[in-house]
Amino acid sequence: MTTTPPQQDDESGESDLDSALVTARRQLERAAAHVDVDDGVVERLKHPTRVEQVSVPLERDDGSVDVFTGYRAQHDDVRGPYKGGLRYHPEVNADECTGLSMWMTWKCAVMDLPFGGGKGGISVNPKSLSNDEKERLTRRFAEELRYVIGPTRDVPAPDMGTDAQTMAWFMDAYSMQQGETIPGVVTGKPPVIGGSYGRQEAPGRSTAIAAREAIDYYDKHLEETTVAVQGFGSVGANAARLLEEWGANVVSVSDVNGAIYDPDGLDIGAIPTHEEEPEAVLEQDAPETLSNEEILELDVDVLIPAAIGNVITADNADDIAADIVVEGANGPTTFAADTILEERGVHVIPDILANAGGVTVSYFEWLQDINRRKWSLEEVNKELESKMLDAWKEVRTEVEEKELSWRDAAYVVALSRIAEAKATRGLWP
Ligand code: GLU
Repeated sequence: MTTTPPQQDDESGESDLDSALVTARRQLERAAAHVDVDDGVVERLKHPTRVEQVSVPLERDDGSVDVFTGYRAQHDDVRGPYKGGLRYHPEVNADECTGLSMWMTWKCAVMDLPFGGGKGGISVNPKSLSNDEKERLTRRFAEELRYVIGPTRDVPAPDMGTDAQTMAWFMDAYSMQQGETIPGVVTGKPPVIGGSYGRQEAPGRSTAIAAREAIDYYDKHLEETTVAVQGFGSVGANAARLLEEWGANVVSVSDVNGAIYDPDGLDIGAIPTHEEEPEAVLEQDAPETLSNEEILELDVDVLIPAAIGNVITADNADDIAADIVVEGANGPTTFAADTILEERGVHVIPDILANAGGVTVSYFEWLQDINRRKWSLEEVNKELESKMLDAWKEVRTEVEEKELSWRDAAYVVALSRIAEAKATRGLWP
C-alpha cells in the first residue's frame, strides 16, 4: 500500500483519493436516513449557495506577473455568516472548497455556533512564494473577495498553507478598503490585532478533549492508554502534548518524513512542533522509527490522524489496530474505510466534533472583536471545554439512543439543527 506522506499543516487537510465533495455528499445522504428531515432540505444542502471564483494576479519579486485562481465556497448560512478557512495549496479547486465548506456547516452546527459553512483558497504552492509575494497575493485576494465576505457575511480563517500572519494581511487589506479597522472580518489573527489567545492551539486541544472523553466512555483510564499521533503540526502536536500532560502514554508521533516509536512512551514536550522547527521528528532519539503507513497500523488504544485527509482508506482499514480513532485532520478517513472500521467495531470520533475547537475559538475571537473585549487564555480554554462537553453529550445521546456511529450521530445533531432552522425560516420566495 502506498499513501501520500503527510504534510504538516496548521489546521487540517486532505488529498484527492475521494474528493471532499463526493465524501461530504455521501455522508450527508447517510446521515439524512437517521433524521426526520424534509427531502427538499437535504437536496438544498447538497448544493452550495455560491462558489466565488476569482483571478488573483501577483507581481513576482523579479517583476514578472503570474495569475492564480482563488475560490470561496459558501455552502449554507441559515444559522449565521459563512465560516471557514482559506488554504493555499496546489490542489485547491472549486469542488474541494465546496466539500470542505459543507463540513464547516456541520462542524458549526454540531458545536451550536451561530455560523454556516464556508471554505476557500488559492491554487498555489505556498512554498514557491517569498514572504513578500505571499503578502501581495493575500492582499489582492482579500480585495477580490471583498464583495462576498465581511464580519456579518462570511468570516475566513487560517487553514493549510495559511497562518495568523496571512490573516493579519487579509484583515488589513479589507480594513483599508472599507476605511475602518474591521478585525471581525477574519479569525485566527495574532492577538495583538484582535486575535484570540488559545486560537492556534484550539483544534489540538479539542482533539485531545475528544480523545479523553472517548477513552473515558469506553472505560479506559488515561494513565493506561497508549496513543499514536500522525502529524506534528499544530493539531497533532498540541493534542499529543495535552494528552501526555493529562497522563496518557504517547508512544509514536510522525511528520512528513516518518514516525518515531517508543513503546514506553516518548517525551512529547521535548519534540519541536512543525511551527517551532519544521520536520524535526526523526531527529529525536527513539528506539524505533516507522513509516507514515506503519504508524497508522500500530497496536495502540487511540490513533489520532492529524496530518492530511484520506490516510485511512479501504486499503488499510482492516489493518488499523487501534480501538479508537480521533480525527484531528479534516477527512482523514475515506467513506469506504469508515464502513470497514464501523463493521470492525473501531470507534471513530469524527473531525466535525474532534477538531471543532478551531472554529469554536474562532467564534470566541469574533465575539471579542465585535464586543471590543479581550478574553484571557483561561476564559477561552474554560469556554472551549464547556462547548466541547456540551457537543460531546449531544452526540453521545444520539450514539446511545439510535445506536449510531459517532460520525452519523454528529451528523444527526448537526442536520437536525440546520433542518429546524430552515423549516423555521422557510423557503423564500
Ligand atoms: N480551518 C479550520 C477548520 O477546518 C477553522 C475554520 C475557522 O476557524 O473558521 O475547522
